Amino acid sequence: MFDFMDMSYDEPGEPLGSGPYIPDAGECMRCGICIASCPTFRMFQIDEETPRRRIRTISKILVENQPISAEERMHLDNCVQCRACETVCPSRMAYGQLFDQARVQLSLKAVAEHYKIPFALSLSKGGRDFGMLNKWMAKLAFKLIENKRWRAWLMPLPAIYLKSGLQKPLRSTGLLKKLHLANAEALLGKPALRALADSYPISVTKRGRVALFTGCIAEHFDRETLLAALKLLNAIGYEVLVPPQQGCCGAIHQHNGQSAAGLIDNNIAVFNALEVDAVLHTATGCGAMLSEYQNDDEAGQLFRQRLGDINEFLLEHWPDDLQLAASELKVAVHEPCSQRNILKNQQAVYALLQKIPGLTVAALADNNICCGSGGSYMLTHPDNAGQLRALKQQVIAASSADVVVSGNFGCAVYLNADGGGVEHPLLLLARQLPVM
Ligand code: SF4
Ligand code: SF4
Repeated sequence: MFDFMDMSYDEPGEPLGSGPYIPDAGECMRCGICIASCPTFRMFQIDEETPRRRIRTISKILVENQPISAEERMHLDNCVQCRACETVCPSRMAYGQLFDQARVQLSLKAVAEHYKIPFALSLSKGGRDFGMLNKWMAKLAFKLIENKRWRAWLMPLPAIYLKSGLQKPLRSTGLLKKLHLANAEALLGKPALRALADSYPISVTKRGRVALFTGCIAEHFDRETLLAALKLLNAIGYEVLVPPQQGCCGAIHQHNGQSAAGLIDNNIAVFNALEVDAVLHTATGCGAMLSEYQNDDEAGQLFRQRLGDINEFLLEHWPDDLQLAASELKVAVHEPCSQRNILKNQQAVYALLQKIPGLTVAALADNNICCGSGGSYMLTHPDNAGQLRALKQQVIAASSADVVVSGNFGCAVYLNADGGGVEHPLLLLARQLPVM
């Protein structure tokens, strides 16, 4: 089905941009090696939808200070930010960083020109402006991501809506489509309303203490994964702290030309204040952002030193005497772009799942192609995202797996919205724990 070559030059664990030379946006060699890795080129088959052309547009914005056309802007905006192009670029072009910088420039320009809202969150196709309503919806979305108290106040609303039976009749009125809310509404799951406890102690001999990063939206909509993480960490002998002052990782802000500095500084201060062995994340999208916090001061270094992926931590600290119950399920592993192209630690998931005796574990075919979720991309570019999801769903169906696991909440939500069966690998592991 997919005929792209997997041309990854990076060895697992090798950090991005660790090569001898990181060219800036003006120094792309135009070699075109990145083209085959790009999901938007796969969809559109035109040069404008390649990383190489986007780098050219970024160069105009960042290096040459030239205006870009509406068409160039649309093609730039079509980027799903999977960063597959980074992994194959022989010049180690830091595409993700350059893209974020370009968006900041465009946002600043938009403000200066009284442009309505950041184009990626205009909740529109191709960056078209739908006026004041969407401007306020985008502002509300940012506020909800930023502000825990706002989330706590507003979270009962989706819960009431889902329980009310209004979903079907409201969908049939077409009102949601008119308000450009249909795509977001289709992704709605039942939120957890109660806050997690601040700490999850253990009664058995303690081996250490870790902190858990919960995310913003995932804290409410991916509660099962967080509870599985707590259960597993306790089972391997670790007490877990869940500091309530933690906030969003900042990824949505950063990738949409907004400042994530406040969110970053807050997380660094909150987690650095804890006496823990490690700070663990469960969603690879958040983990990728957390691992790329650029703060070079002592606080930033301490934060990065203790930051870890929960799959790797569990694998490294798994006690010899902890046996999981057997399972005969056939599992396919979906490798999120944030894991495959940024964290590069997907092998830990396979190794960890081998702790379940009898389980058959295999990679999902075409893991090098994005599923379309792409942070807020599934909302801002529903048609493009939908095409990518349809391709991924064909691959899932062909895998004949009983379960598909994905380490990223965003990918799982998006793939499940259209009938899924995708879950976090931690859920699978936690279910096989011996009854204590
Ligand atoms: S692979 Fe790298 S250097 Fe070559 S065209 Fe793509 S971005 Fe430019
Ligand atoms: S980040 Fe992904 S979608 Fe964007 S240019 Fe690179 S490969 Fe294409």
